[in-house]
Amino acid sequence: MQDTFRHKGLRKQLVEEIRRKGITDVRVLEAMEKIPRHIFMDSSFLEFAYQDKPFPIGSGQTISQPYTVAFQTMLLEASRGLKVLEIGTGSGYQACVLAEMGAKVYSIERQRKLFAKTKLLLESLSWKVQLFLGDGNLGLPKFAPFDRILITAAAPSISTALVDQLKVGGLMVVPFGEGADQTMKRLIKLEDGSLKEEQFGIFRFVPLLGNIGND
Ligand code: SAM
Repeated sequence: MQDTFRHKGLRKQLVEEIRRKGITDVRVLEAMEKIPRHIFMDSSFLEFAYQDKPFPIGSGQTISQPYTVAFQTMLLEASRGLKVLEIGTGSGYQACVLAEMGAKVYSIERQRKLFAKTKLLLESLSWKVQLFLGDGNLGLPKFAPFDRILITAAAPSISTALVDQLKVGGLMVVPFGEGADQTMKRLIKLEDGSLKEEQFGIFRFVPLLGNIGND
């Protein structure tokens, strides 16, 4: 799929819009200006790719709203060389934003169909992301510890596996809660293994589910 001057122009406008909405991290804005969001969406939604809205990506899932991607990425304080674990690969867009910022990205998706579709797409792109099919609640013990963990689905709880796999001093960003709305939380892991919590307002995500799904 092409990335035309029109796409680039629309992307510039979108980045300007999220900057106006309060995203101040220039590195996040620059990365989002580089990643062609339209190639992560079904062709029937191409004309909506540069609106600040979530959209369906199949299997009952969504590509997150660009503002939300920017907000979570800003909270994560990702930077070159950091090992980042993303739970909820979805379209692969968020993972590529992190890769563009120089992070070493590991991403887990539980839905087999979505995993296969996104894997195929990412193989054709230049951003390097390691994709895994599985239940993100279990993390990736083989590749732990991680400097950052980003959960991109609504988590009713945080598994001890994920806490164990976060480095001391590392950050975890998670939309936390069971209902329709969740509180965006940033957790920092302290020396004694406990988590210090900060809260950043209300967001709305699809739920984090267990086990592998074929739906
Ligand atoms: N980060 C994605 C993107 O850039 O397109 C959007 C993520 S979407 C809002 C949430 C994703 O989390 C869905 O693809 C869903 O299948 C996945 N998911 C839900 N529960 C999961 C789990 N336990 N492990 C891994 N992925 C999960």
